[in-house]
Amino acid sequence: MIIVMKKGADKEQLAEVKKRIRELGYKPHVIHGETRNVIGAVGDERGKSVLQALESMPGVENVVPILKPYKLASREVKPEPSTIDLGGGVLIGGDNLVVMAGPCSVESEEQILETAHAVKAAGATVLRGGAFKPRTSPYSFQGMEEDGLKLLALAREATGLPIVTEVVNPRDVDLVARYADILQVGARNIQNFALLKMLGRLDKPILLKRGMATTIQEFLMSAEYILAEGNRRVILCERGIRTFETATRNTLDISAVPVLKEQTHLPVVIDPSHATGHASLVPSMCYASVAAGCDGLIVEVHPHPEKAASDGPQSLRPAEFAAMMKKLQAFAEVAGKKL
Ligand code: PEP
Ligand code: MN
Repeated sequence: MIIVMKKGADKEQLAEVKKRIRELGYKPHVIHGETRNVIGAVGDERGKSVLQALESMPGVENVVPILKPYKLASREVKPEPSTIDLGGGVLIGGDNLVVMAGPCSVESEEQILETAHAVKAAGATVLRGGAFKPRTSPYSFQGMEEDGLKLLALAREATGLPIVTEVVNPRDVDLVARYADILQVGARNIQNFALLKMLGRLDKPILLKRGMATTIQEFLMSAEYILAEGNRRVILCERGIRTFETATRNTLDISAVPVLKEQTHLPVVIDPSHATGHASLVPSMCYASVAAGCDGLIVEVHPHPEKAASDGPQSLRPAEFAAMMKKLQAFAEVAGKKL
């Protein structure tokens, strides 16, 4: 249920409505808009009609039942797009286009520093790199763990780029949060609700990747888990879904961008690397994603893809990444985005 406050409603009226929502056994979540405040009442779906009576309270404009199972993620609760401020002038959402780039896995000091400097020079504003790797095979490289996080922090110090890195296990949330500027939830963990709830209690942005068989509704419900715990800084990432096609590693669902834009205020980024699985296909999918209206890209870049510990075939070389970034400028302009 959404409680829309009147334009001129004051703080006391807002507080009274919140109090009443709690008395009725629901949790109020206030969204502060530019002209008015809106309260999402979250709780047991059954019996929610009792909230309808709040319409008579001073300062309340109307009470709108919403049919969508997600609320805080919805455009109904927050019509204007969310912008996430990473500091240092890096904004995600709105009319900003963010490019995150770096290796699949952190492998060595030399590798991460070389990549960080190269992607920064090409215009990326966030460095990616996995320290904990969720691999399909238990025999594949599992990541450098805390040593990898330390190397990412070193690369941030050297370049000023904020870092995004994956947390695989709830047990490691505090550790990863000590180093990361954005914590990534991988496709395989999209419905690890225990992990999502923990991330919801953090004061750090979360990059939530769509699972390979996740519907848009399920995707937004997973985002809702994080939002409902209080963390409003969620970035959605489409990274390809599993289809019958085998020419690409996954099938990039570009239509997820406009669909998500209709449903949610959260920023949407595209990962063309895991979506395609082949470096040669990555640039065209970057252009297409920006044309479709995404808020950013997360691209795998490796100085020596032939030697990469993971995902070499889909990693761009620094020169290829720089060429893609140059061409991307024109698409950003047409899409009305600042790169
Ligand atoms: C990754 O970003 O390296 C990764 C493992 O991605 P995904 O979870 O989308 O497979
Ligand atoms: Mn990867």
